[in-house]
Amino acid sequence: MDVLVVGAGLAGLHTARLLAWRGLNVMVVDRRRSLSAGIRTTGIFVRRTLDDFDVPDHLLGPAVRDVLLYPPSRRAPIRLTSDRDEYRVADMAAVYEHARRAAESAGARVLLGVRYVDASMGLVRFADAEPVTARFIVGADGARSRVARDLGLDVNRRFLVGAEIVHPVASGTTTPAFHCVLDPRIAPGYLGWVIDDGRNAHVGVAGYPDATRTGIRHLLDAFAADAPGGTTPAGPVERRGGPIPVGGVLRRLACPAGLLVGDAAGAVSPLTAGGLDPCLRMSELAAAVTAGYLRTGDQRVLSRYDGGALRARFRGRLLLRRAFAGIRSPAAAEAVVTALRGRAGRALAARILFGDGSFPDVDPRPVDPAIGHPHR
Ligand SMILES: Cc1cc2nc3c(=O)[nH]c(=O)nc-3n(C[C@H](O)[C@H](O)[C@H](O)COP(=O)(O)OP(=O)(O)OC[C@H]3O[C@@H](n4cnc5c(N)ncnc54)[C@H](O)[C@@H]3O)c2cc1C
Repeated sequence: MDVLVVGAGLAGLHTARLLAWRGLNVMVVDRRRSLSAGIRTTGIFVRRTLDDFDVPDHLLGPAVRDVLLYPPSRRAPIRLTSDRDEYRVADMAAVYEHARRAAESAGARVLLGVRYVDASMGLVRFADAEPVTARFIVGADGARSRVARDLGLDVNRRFLVGAEIVHPVASGTTTPAFHCVLDPRIAPGYLGWVIDDGRNAHVGVAGYPDATRTGIRHLLDAFAADAPGGTTPAGPVERRGGPIPVGGVLRRLACPAGLLVGDAAGAVSPLTAGGLDPCLRMSELAAAVTAGYLRTGDQRVLSRYDGGALRARFRGRLLLRRAFAGIRSPAAAEAVVTALRGRAGRALAARILFGDGSFPDVDPRPVDPAIGHPHR
């Protein structure tokens, strides 16, 4: 086999499709038995992703344009209204199924219920299947990637941990809105959120694990008990959660044995914690580099997949992440929301929430090994 992709999340399935489409022999494995089980994302797609990638409309909920930003007191939220459709929450089980079918139509094989154990010298072992040999491994196995460790690539070290509940809402009972609560007691280093698009409501919190002494689930239950937006379940309640790498894109992402994509690569906006856009954006370059390397055998091709170069463009966001992490008391959070009420504050908030800069653009043009820079 040419390429083994470990992980059938959005990053793995999308990369597998692009590789198979380039004529490579590709297999994807995931330890999940079903793609609709163990979902670890709210599934908010931002405008820029929907503009740049083809996510079918029927997989997406109604658009959300209103954001309400609450201080810890929950009094007088700041309301920001965009004149464009900013967010759409996807039916993620359907998104994964769609991505799987697209990968399979391009020629990739997708095996579920197969857990990657380790790899050495191209031999890959699984917990519940026969070993295989692969020329190249794509680590799309999430925030705590084992593939990264086995290939000797960089690993994520800074995490938030997030948890949410999601349930249908009775139609016509709520107004589509994204409620964000800045309160370090419920979400130390991040936000509590309710996003309700009129079909489903997601109620969640995230924070630094060392600051969530009582555990994230406890914080979620406390937050959900009186979360803003007043949503009541009109159907089954599903729980989701997982780690979110927020240290920025890792530096060393590729070696002759394989490379990393998605959360495994730390490809998450350190500020907003959005990782779905980078799954799609970085996969294009990952697939181009992998195909170029396997075709030529020239290791210089791999140097194009350089986390260090992308990281440089994250400086501002990493700085803001540090500022975010520094909001430790309710009084400090109140002061931040007060500052955001002014004209400059609202402009900054709108730039973060509605801007186009959540993840830098990645140039997917393949490298020419002879001259070491992309084809023009
Ligand atoms: C609670 C929460 C809410 C979030 N909400 C949003 C949001 O609304 N919008 C947004 O843009 N981002 C959001 N994020 C971040 C975003 O979801 C992730 O960045 C993105 O889903 C990462 O995709 P991925 O394919 O890299 O990893 P994953 O989706 O985590 O996929 C990794 C896959 O690898 C598999 N795997 C792991 N280990 C093994 C193994 N040993 N063998 C076989 N398979 C293995 C797993 O089963 C999994 O299917 C959220 C994150 C969390 C935790």
